[in-house]
Amino acid sequence: MSNKFDVIVIGGGPGGYVAAIRAAQLGLNVACIEKWLDKNDKPRLGGTCLNVGCIPSKALLDSSHKYHDAKDEFSTHGIGVSDVSMDVNAMVDRKDNIVNQLTSGITGLFKANGVKSFEGFGKLLANKKVEFTAHDGKVETFEADNVILATGSVPVNIPPAPRTGDIIVDNEGALDFREVPKRLGVIGAGVIGLELGSVWNRLGSEVVVLEAQDQFLSLCDQDLAKEAGKIFKKQGLDIRVGARVTGSEVKGDEVEVTFLDAKGEEQKQTFDKLIVAVGRKPFTDGCLAADSGVNLDERGFVFVDDQCKTNVPGVYAIGDIVRGPMLAHKASEEGVMVADIIAGHKAQMNYDCIPSVIYTHPELAWVGKNEQQLKAEGVKYKVGKFPFAASGRAMAANDTDGFVKMIACEETDRILGCHIIGGHAADLIAQAVIAMEFGSTAEDIALTVFAHPTVSEAVHEAALAVDGHAIHVA
Ligand code: FAD
Repeated sequence: MSNKFDVIVIGGGPGGYVAAIRAAQLGLNVACIEKWLDKNDKPRLGGTCLNVGCIPSKALLDSSHKYHDAKDEFSTHGIGVSDVSMDVNAMVDRKDNIVNQLTSGITGLFKANGVKSFEGFGKLLANKKVEFTAHDGKVETFEADNVILATGSVPVNIPPAPRTGDIIVDNEGALDFREVPKRLGVIGAGVIGLELGSVWNRLGSEVVVLEAQDQFLSLCDQDLAKEAGKIFKKQGLDIRVGARVTGSEVKGDEVEVTFLDAKGEEQKQTFDKLIVAVGRKPFTDGCLAADSGVNLDERGFVFVDDQCKTNVPGVYAIGDIVRGPMLAHKASEEGVMVADIIAGHKAQMNYDCIPSVIYTHPELAWVGKNEQQLKAEGVKYKVGKFPFAASGRAMAANDTDGFVKMIACEETDRILGCHIIGGHAADLIAQAVIAMEFGSTAEDIALTVFAHPTVSEAVHEAALAVDGHAIHVA
C-alpha cells in the first residue's frame, strides 16, 4: 500500500472520524490514525464522545432517570410498582454495550467509505509528513497533501485532588462505578459535574458539588441558572458555590476533602468517591514535531482561523483542540467544513448558532446570546417567556418544570437567542437553531403552525410572548 494520501486525519473522535468519512465521500484518498485502546487494550474509534463522554454519560442518565421515574413518579400516573431496584452492574454493562455498538459502527462506516484506518499514534512532522507508530511499536512515515489534526482534549487535573483511579476519579472513572457510592463529592458544577452528579444522586448517593466560582452556571442565561439551582436543590443535589478545594487525603476507603467555603472559612467533608470535573484541556502532547511549524495559542489550543486553517498551508485543526466550545457537534461540523474546503468546495461554519445542552432533568439548552451578554453589549432586546406549567402536553406528561425564553432584537425582531429549561430542551432547541440559521424573526415563529398538543408549542408561545401576545399565559 502506498504511504501517500490526499488527507491524513490524526484522531478518530467526532471531529476526526466525521472529517475522514466526508473527505472519502468527496472522492479523496483518506487515512485516519487513532491511538485509543479500551480497558481490554482493544483499539477503538469514536474518541472521548463515544467512549467516555457524550454517549456513555447519556446511557447512564437515561437508565437512572427511568429508575427514578419507576420509583417516584409512576404512582402519579396510577401505575403501581413494588420493589423497584437498580442493578448497577447491569446498568454499566448496558452502557458498555452501547459504546461497543457505536464504536464498531464507525469501523464499519470507515470500511464502507474506503477510509484507511491506522491503529496507533500519529505525529505531524515538517512538510505534511506524518509519523505513525503502531501499537506494536512499528514506525512508518506517511505523506499527505492535507493533514487534519483532531486530537481532542483530556481532563484537567488539579493538584489538591490528584486522581487515584479508584476513589478520586475523572469522567472515565465516574462512568464505571460498580456500586452506588453513599457519599459522592463532585468538584466542578459545570456540564460534566452536573450530569454525572445527577446520575448517582438519582440512584441514591448523597451528592455534594463544590464549585469554585461564586455564580452558579455562569455560562448560561441567569434565569435558567436560577431555575436550575432551585430544581437541583429539590432533587437533593447539594451545590456549594464559592467553594475552593485546597486539598484531599485518601484515608482507607474514603477521601477527606478540604475546601474554603464562600465565606473563606476552611471546611472538611468526607466522601466515598470524588469526581474531579473542573474542565478539559486540548491534547497535543507529542502530536507535533518541533519543526512541524504549527502554532499554538497561549492556552495550548492549536491556532486556527474561522475555516480551521492553521498557520501551515494544508494543515487544519478541528474540534476540542481549537477555540470554541468543546462539543461533539461543533467538532463534527468543523470536520465537514474542512473536508469540503479540501475537496475544493466553498464552506463556512456559523459559530453563532451552536447549541449547548446540559442533560440533567430538566435539561438546559440554549443557542445565541443570553440577557447578560446583550446587556453588556448594549443591544436593545425584547424577551418572550412561556412556562411548561401552562403546556397541556407537559401536564399530561407530569413534566412541567421550566420554561422557554426567547430573546429578539427590539428593532428588527430577529431572534438573538433562545434559552430553554425543561423536559425536552435538548430537542426543542433545534427549532430555535434552525430559525436563527435562517435569520428568522420572533414573528416568523409566531406565525408558524405547531402541532397540538406538543411541548414544542411552548416555543411557539414564547415567540408570541416576545410581543406580549402569548395565548395560554396571562
Ligand atoms: P475527541 O473526541 O477527544 O477525540 C480525539 C481522538 O484523538 C481521541 O480518540 C484520541 O485518542 C485521538 N488522538 C489524540 N492524539 C492522537 C495521536 N497523536 N494519534 C492518534 N490518535 C490521537 N459533547 C457534546 O456535544 N454533547 C455531550 O453530551 C457531551 N457529553 C460529554 C460528557 C463527558 C463526560 C465528556 C468528557 C465530554 C462530553 N462532551 C459532550 C464533549 C465531547 O466529548 C467532545 O467535545 C468531543 O469528543 C470532541 O471531539 P474531538 O474529535 O475534537 O476529540
